[in-house]
Amino acid sequence: MSITAELEKRGKGCIGCFVCENVCSNGAIKMILDGEGYYRATSDASLCKSCNRCLEVCPQITLPLVGTGSPDCYAVKVISGMLIENSVESPVSMFAKWMLSRGGHVCATVLDDNSDFVYLLSNDEGIVKSMGNFKCICREMRGIYGIIDEKLKAGEYVLFVGCPCHVAALRNYVGENDHLYALDLSCGGQPSKTAYRDYLLESFGSLAMTDLLFDNGGLFGGLLVAKSADDKVMVSPNDIYITAYERRLITDVNCSDCQFASVPRQGDLTVGCLRDEGRLVRYEDSRGDLDVVMVNTSKGEEMFTGVRDELAYFRPVSFDYLKTLDWMSSSHPLNESRPRFHNMTNRGISFVRSADYSLFKRYDVGITGFWRNNDYGGELSYYALYSLFRDMGKEVLMIEYRNNIEGYPSNPTFLNTMYPSDSLLRWCSTLEDQQEAVSQVYNLITGPGPIWDRRLLDQNSIGCYSLDFAPIWRNKISVSSTFGSPVRRNDEDHLKLMERIGKIDRVSVSDLNSRDVCKEMGIEAEIMLDPIFLCNDTVFDELIKTSRADYPNWFVLSYAIRPNSLHGAEKIYDALGFGAINVCSSMTDPNKYDGYPITDVYSVENWVKAIKKSSFVLTDSYHALVLAILFRKPFLFIMKKDASHGDRVATLLSMLGLEGRHFESVDEAIEANVVNSDIDYDGVWDILDSKRKDSIKWIMESLV
Ligand code: SF4
Ligand code: SF4
Ligand code: SF4
Repeated sequence: MSITAELEKRGKGCIGCFVCENVCSNGAIKMILDGEGYYRATSDASLCKSCNRCLEVCPQITLPLVGTGSPDCYAVKVISGMLIENSVESPVSMFAKWMLSRGGHVCATVLDDNSDFVYLLSNDEGIVKSMGNFKCICREMRGIYGIIDEKLKAGEYVLFVGCPCHVAALRNYVGENDHLYALDLSCGGQPSKTAYRDYLLESFGSLAMTDLLFDNGGLFGGLLVAKSADDKVMVSPNDIYITAYERRLITDVNCSDCQFASVPRQGDLTVGCLRDEGRLVRYEDSRGDLDVVMVNTSKGEEMFTGVRDELAYFRPVSFDYLKTLDWMSSSHPLNESRPRFHNMTNRGISFVRSADYSLFKRYDVGITGFWRNNDYGGELSYYALYSLFRDMGKEVLMIEYRNNIEGYPSNPTFLNTMYPSDSLLRWCSTLEDQQEAVSQVYNLITGPGPIWDRRLLDQNSIGCYSLDFAPIWRNKISVSSTFGSPVRRNDEDHLKLMERIGKIDRVSVSDLNSRDVCKEMGIEAEIMLDPIFLCNDTVFDELIKTSRADYPNWFVLSYAIRPNSLHGAEKIYDALGFGAINVCSSMTDPNKYDGYPITDVYSVENWVKAIKKSSFVLTDSYHALVLAILFRKPFLFIMKKDASHGDRVATLLSMLGLEGRHFESVDEAIEANVVNSDIDYDGVWDILDSKRKDSIKWIMESLV
């Protein structure tokens, strides 16, 4: 069985230690960086001779247990001036010095010319001094196993300093060896190499760093100091990369359950940070960080005894207490925003922006309205708005209305929507919850559609649709909104609604009537096209690609919200000379129209495809009309001219010079003899293009 299959069988994952690649003499294993920037073993079955050597050395499969379950533990502080040059204060340097003093070698990590953090073996004091423990950088074992093994076989002493799983892998590789001394370090998880490299390139414009210092923080966040090849020193306080590492946004998923963290440890000694816990140790001069040393074996005892007298301070601490430290826990839960972070970087967004937005739940735009109503047109309109912002490079959050209406579910399950999960705000049932959840959303948008319908006035949702949850200082915008049913101008509730709309910074509406109503109340409103007209064509192409519905070559798409309105439609089909597919809104109750033949298209994707594939569109729906125009279809719109929701239809048709396609009944359309007349779509397009530019300009200028 291949090593990857064996790991999968055991419910484990590769942690990128390189030992299997080193041990396989048939070249069947290669280490590759995965899409998130972690090294993974891949095996080539055609080269594998099934010797099982890789399984024997893999630390995730074979765990060499060397330490004790109850080590002696000490809080320690080194004397200033005895440090490894570019590392933070650590007793590791003293153990390294001890090994050199007895003629041995030290193997620990150094920065190579490419700013990778690789293990190096040396007995040169200068090189050993340059070794550091930057746990925020991916540590790469590469081919160090054979180099250490050679020295040990030659009877030389080696002190290996690394993270616990690397110590385990080395022990598996070399077997029991009296000359190997190992020191394992506290570890919170292997960081992503890709994230590290992206960060260096973005922040410093180079991967050629000669020196790096990561200080993990305390009260003011992490500090990164970097020195470039041309000797420039760059300082990054409150560093986002360190924060991303510390909050486990960029640590390996296979480190989230670490079998090397608890006792018995893999090193003869363990060295870890006792940072804030230093306050618990009675030591008058304990300003700054204290470290902890755990003595796990007799070799560890030998090393600790060898340096003890040179320490500035040490005192025993209880192991029971150390067990409570984060790095001693095998559970390293990943940051909940990790999927969003990877989603953003995969879309080509910079590391800094992806990390910052993911960690602090920032969004450029939050949209609320009828975005997951059971209505094809409404759903599509919101998806188009979402896509428009996404294509502008904005991070978008879809905000669910809250409701506490009796009889409505208080916590609805999400419909299958087209939005990635990191674009969906968790359900908020109260105003306060909603306020908190959007505190880092820079622009809050309501609309499009009849979100200010007076039939919603009694419901809590109207508060959402007038953005009552937005902090007063946040930018609030309405996009192509409308009042829907006729406005009762002096109605008390309506006046309250207008007061709320007045608090929106920039108002745009879809129709002249809504604009006039706003004007009467002193609110300047812009006429705005529906977002379906504004987004990129590829949005519809992509949706249609996912549809598996088949449509004939010639058909009338007869799409009705109220099938009664298309009464007598057969006369139109006869005039055209081909048949129809009758589709109703997903909100239409088919029982109400018994006998009316309805084809259920089930999804927005199938609905869009039906309109795109049709030869003629007959409808009473605003959004079907919008799509018919967008796809340059001949159409007839049938609806009473004073019908509620008719304002935006009238505004659109008159704006595009298409009023002649709107009739109150099928008979009226037949009488007008326009069924077979052409529409001058080139002329329509000229107007549409100019209105589109205006609408997009307005939206862009409205955003902060
Ligand atoms: S089983 Fe042997 S030959 Fe096959 S990949 Fe592992 S080490 Fe290589
Ligand atoms: S030996 Fe190391 S690199 Fe190979 S599969 Fe196991 S954990 Fe991964
Ligand atoms: S968290 Fe565990 S598995 Fe991951 S790098 Fe550290 S020691 Fe290895």
